[in-house]
Amino acid sequence: MKELSKRVLELFPSPTLSISAKARELRKRGERVIGFGAGEPDLKPPEILKECVIRALKEGHDKYLPSAGIRELRELLSYSYQRRGVNYGPEDLVITGGAKLGIFLVLLALIEEGDEVLIPSPYWVSYPVMVKLCGGIPKFIDLKEEEGFKLTYEKFLEKVSPKTKLLIVNSPNNPTGALYDREELLKIVGFCKERGIWVLSDECYENFVYEGDFFNLAKGFEENVITVSSFSKSFSVTGWRLGYIGAKGEIVKKLLSLNSQTLSNATSFLQYAFYYFLKEEEEVKKYLEEVKRTFKRRRDLVVSLLSEIEGISFVKPEGAFYVFPDLSRYYEDDLTLSELLLEKEKVALVPGTPFGARGRVRITFALPEDEIREGVGRIASFLLDGGGKGSL
Ligand code: PMP
Ligand code: GLU
Repeated sequence: MKELSKRVLELFPSPTLSISAKARELRKRGERVIGFGAGEPDLKPPEILKECVIRALKEGHDKYLPSAGIRELRELLSYSYQRRGVNYGPEDLVITGGAKLGIFLVLLALIEEGDEVLIPSPYWVSYPVMVKLCGGIPKFIDLKEEEGFKLTYEKFLEKVSPKTKLLIVNSPNNPTGALYDREELLKIVGFCKERGIWVLSDECYENFVYEGDFFNLAKGFEENVITVSSFSKSFSVTGWRLGYIGAKGEIVKKLLSLNSQTLSNATSFLQYAFYYFLKEEEEVKKYLEEVKRTFKRRRDLVVSLLSEIEGISFVKPEGAFYVFPDLSRYYEDDLTLSELLLEKEKVALVPGTPFGARGRVRITFALPEDEIREGVGRIASFLLDGGGKGSL
């Protein structure tokens, strides 16, 4: 019998990636599409990082590597964590194929059939899908726009149960841009530690904070908080697929085995390239500061443009590079709205439904200011000129 596994029957491609694929197709046909779709910075990676890649290739780093990743790179990452008060040694880190694979490996290592995984909602599209692939049950903590989409201890307590195995925290958040409150998170993580609940802290957007300070959730909680992070966003290298996991104890061996049995190792020359590059601390700092400045300007611009559209509401993003407005007063069905915007206005954005929020859309402000202006303008005229059925 040529049957597929039950596991994949309901599986679908990542909607964030699909929308960009559609936009690419339209561009190939000569259309001028504004890409508010997949979350990836448009900026160029640092020139010196590219030189480091060439150096690594010329040196011949072409072969299999230790599955944990090269010691030199893990030492640098460990040093960076230690400086921020997080006690991850090189042996506590596993380099893997992007944060996405890192998250999946962590879930594989932790989740058993029927385990509940708490996910603050709105959520990044892939979390519930991956949890289900591992046999777990996603349980959503509903966050409200009026509360800035912030996760609180009280909201967490409403949903935690004896079956809770893991809580996923993503702050700064995709898709809301919220940065969760430190005190609230500390109470939550303290509770989890006491009850033997794991916490996965997805810190992909750690460099994209415009208000308040980013802090590493594992600091002081290394035993039950697993950190996943990535080079993708910070250095504009989403296609390179390089990320890392930090954890303590028995689980590290298992993550290593999972990496070893599936990926073998993350791309050899890129690991060396990042090792050479991250040693250039001043260059790294300069690049990251410039990225942050650029994105803060873009954040301010998109917020001011959206504020001018009557009848929509949204939370000003404190971090990441997404804004998540509610357009339901114009269009309740965000899936149709997104299709129409792409078809008629050539604006690619991601509908809110796959993030758990019908009636919203996600706008990624990772593109130049003139394009942001034009894209928001196209959305506004579509909504106001009756494309949005003139429902206001
Ligand atoms: N977590 C979140 C919240 C994301 O938005 C993304 C998308 N970049 C990832 C993880 C995966 O990132 P990476 O490119 O490192 O796999
Ligand atoms: N994480 C980004 C996003 O949400 C990139 C695409 C993906 O990995 O899903 O758009």
